[in-house]
Amino acid sequence: MPQMHALRRERAAAVVAGLGADAALITSGVNVRYLTGLVSSNGALLLPPDGTAVLATDSRYAGTAERESPDTELVIERDVAAALVRRALASGFRTIAFEDRDLTVQRHRELTAITGTGPASAGPDLVPAGGAIDELRMVKDEAEIELLARACAITGEAFSVVLAWLRPGVSEREYAVALERAMFDLGAQAAAFDSIVASGPNGAIPHHVPGDRQFRAGDLVTVDCGALFGGYHADMTRTVAIGKPAAWQCEIYQIVAQAQAAGVAAVKPGADVGDVDAVSRDLIEAAGHGAHFTHGLGHGVGLEIHEAPIIGHDRTGTLADRVPITIEPGIYLPGSGGVRIEDTLVVRAGAGAAGSAQPLTTITRELLVL
Ligand code: ZN
Ligand code: ZN
Repeated sequence: MPQMHALRRERAAAVVAGLGADAALITSGVNVRYLTGLVSSNGALLLPPDGTAVLATDSRYAGTAERESPDTELVIERDVAAALVRRALASGFRTIAFEDRDLTVQRHRELTAITGTGPASAGPDLVPAGGAIDELRMVKDEAEIELLARACAITGEAFSVVLAWLRPGVSEREYAVALERAMFDLGAQAAAFDSIVASGPNGAIPHHVPGDRQFRAGDLVTVDCGALFGGYHADMTRTVAIGKPAAWQCEIYQIVAQAQAAGVAAVKPGADVGDVDAVSRDLIEAAGHGAHFTHGLGHGVGLEIHEAPIIGHDRTGTLADRVPITIEPGIYLPGSGGVRIEDTLVVRAGAGAAGSAQPLTTITRELLVL
């Protein structure tokens, strides 16, 4: 594993060189993890363009850091960012790229106030790195895809194991607890995010928080859930019917299912994210429900539940080989209910120029009537 992290740091060092900085100060936990293997709540990495990284963490994580990242120099201090800025100044680095999506305004002020000693008494010149380091994580290696695939398999299995809980009289909360418990039992380290369980009229709220409402015959129930495994986040949504569905419920389900399948079919390396969104959205609009599909079509997943690329009508960028994404169209009818179908899949360069999507969440997308 240390070799894998060294290769990632090499790629990151090239990014730092491109930023024109003397070094980058990496403070976001997922990026420190990605580049060193250290999982902690207090770590930072100083990375100059020559790749000689310095990892800082506090004494709680000293042993883990030595084990996970044996080939980086280690600094043990409580205030990791300040320690690394002082270290940078002592090494003659002045222009330091920082993660402006992560560092608070307060921390930025404190770090700017640090001064060097001796001849290098000037403070650091902090320049924003934007999402340059985050973007390194977009294309996954096969080891990452394996962890994500395991997270997705656990998610599908857990959903199947607790299907019997989707019956009249069980509350959204009771079901959510049973579902997450099943994920733990199947080996998940945690739920990847708070499960969404939206029954009946609550289904019209895309991010409904499970409450005390009990399932009733005639409900559509939308379940959006995922397992966390090895740091990787699965994301899957299924909508089921409790009892025989009404005509309007079947109708919106079929439209969303078609839109989801079309979106998945449009996924290939080089595809524009706006075009993929349009393939799905056009079908929903043509069916008269454009105003009822109120969010983007999907997003990247990995060490974070929402990461690059974002797939939406107002987004730019293209998909690439080995990028895991979700495709999740929905129709939400205020006061009545809703449908969403979501899969996690991996963009794959296929035979020829076409390429395809490799589904990681694979349980049926047919309307389950329970
Ligand atoms: Zn989801
Ligand atoms: Zn999602």
